[in-house]
Amino acid sequence: MANQSEQLLKMRNEHVPQGPFNTTTAFIREAKGAVMVDVDGREFIDFAGGIGVNNVGHCHPKVVAAIKDQADKFIHTCFHVTMYESYVELAAKLNELAPGDFPKMTMFANSGAEAVENAIKVVRYAKKRPAVICFENGFHGRTYMAMSLTSKIKPYKLGFGPFAPEVYRMPYAYCYRCPMGLKYPKCNVACADYLEEFFITHVAPESTAAIIAEPIQGEGGFVTPPPEYFPKLQKICHKYDIALIIDEVQAGAGRTGKFFAIEHWGVEPDLITLAKSFAGGMPLSAVIGRTEMMNAPHVGGLGGTYSGNPLSCRAALAVLEILLEDGLLQRARELGNTLFKRFQDLQEKYEIIGEVRGKGPMLGLELVRDRETKEPATEEAKELVRLCFEKGLILLSCGNFGNVIRTLMPFVITDEQLEKGLAVMEESLHEISNP
Ligand code: PLP
Repeated sequence: MANQSEQLLKMRNEHVPQGPFNTTTAFIREAKGAVMVDVDGREFIDFAGGIGVNNVGHCHPKVVAAIKDQADKFIHTCFHVTMYESYVELAAKLNELAPGDFPKMTMFANSGAEAVENAIKVVRYAKKRPAVICFENGFHGRTYMAMSLTSKIKPYKLGFGPFAPEVYRMPYAYCYRCPMGLKYPKCNVACADYLEEFFITHVAPESTAAIIAEPIQGEGGFVTPPPEYFPKLQKICHKYDIALIIDEVQAGAGRTGKFFAIEHWGVEPDLITLAKSFAGGMPLSAVIGRTEMMNAPHVGGLGGTYSGNPLSCRAALAVLEILLEDGLLQRARELGNTLFKRFQDLQEKYEIIGEVRGKGPMLGLELVRDRETKEPATEEAKELVRLCFEKGLILLSCGNFGNVIRTLMPFVITDEQLEKGLAVMEESLHEISNP
């Protein structure tokens, strides 16, 4: 490791606790588009986007201009004290954009976890019911309710209990490792129908305010349900007057080639949580939902000092323009097609790739030691990420076993940068396959 990074790492280890983890040892000096440069001048191609936050690229000129312009005018007034146009304008745009031909309202918060907290507050208040159903492999954040809804124990939950009550967890549509031991499509998506049985054995529908699901599970391994899954879940939700909350924190803002990932399933959620890429790197999250639910909590029941701060709202308005008017969403779809073909080719060449899945440029490669037994190739995935880092590519893994490689690169990545990154990936795959 070069000089300045070494010194900073020493300082980091002395002054910052280990809890806030680091996946690499790099300290970044500047970043543009899909390239980051560290304090020692090393260049990295970014396939991670700061965990899915930089869909429009690092320092997109329109985002930077919006933030600068806003910073020149005012930085903070608190929406609850004196209001500003960007908050209201952004809410109106999201209400228009979200699926569902019904009246909607939007409120803002700062992080994905905070959006999830607010979504649960809203549905409990509106439905006057306590229970929430979530999913195995799900991830919803690190605050107490969001952590309670999160599935993976290590590292997210171990030692942090007790957790929030009235949280019930169902198996998810993880076809590659079907929790019911079935095979799609013969299974007839029995994992969705299982909800009816769940109401007998775990929690009554009359006590259930909402079901919260990621459209594609992010931290859980880019697990992508079949087309029938969400329509089936929603039908059961309607039957019992249960709200369907779709957590788009990682999959939203164009990551799957559509603005909201749930659009791929043709479902209209009652509430949507959105964060990460939708404000181009500024801290901002949203809860978008049916007016009758969003407007149920009393005045003062929702909010926060920084929630929907003006810099973030302006950045998000710029991101919407870039994705929807400047054609970046189209570029995301093209990027997804290219990546999918390339990963399928890699799968033919490298036995270790058990499955390629996902939508648009939100793709996961599940690594296994044996395609028959599907033994997770956890150590190999770790080594792949390390090798890529050494060769100048930032890559992330995910999944309960840490054996899924995921793509979260900015959509503005150039063809040349993409090729360079993919070449590093292939070279590293070759090395872990032939140790
Ligand atoms: N929900 C999902 C689906 C996520 O992927 C994440 C973060 O990765 C969160 C919620 C929590 O977001 P934040 O880290 O901004 O609190």
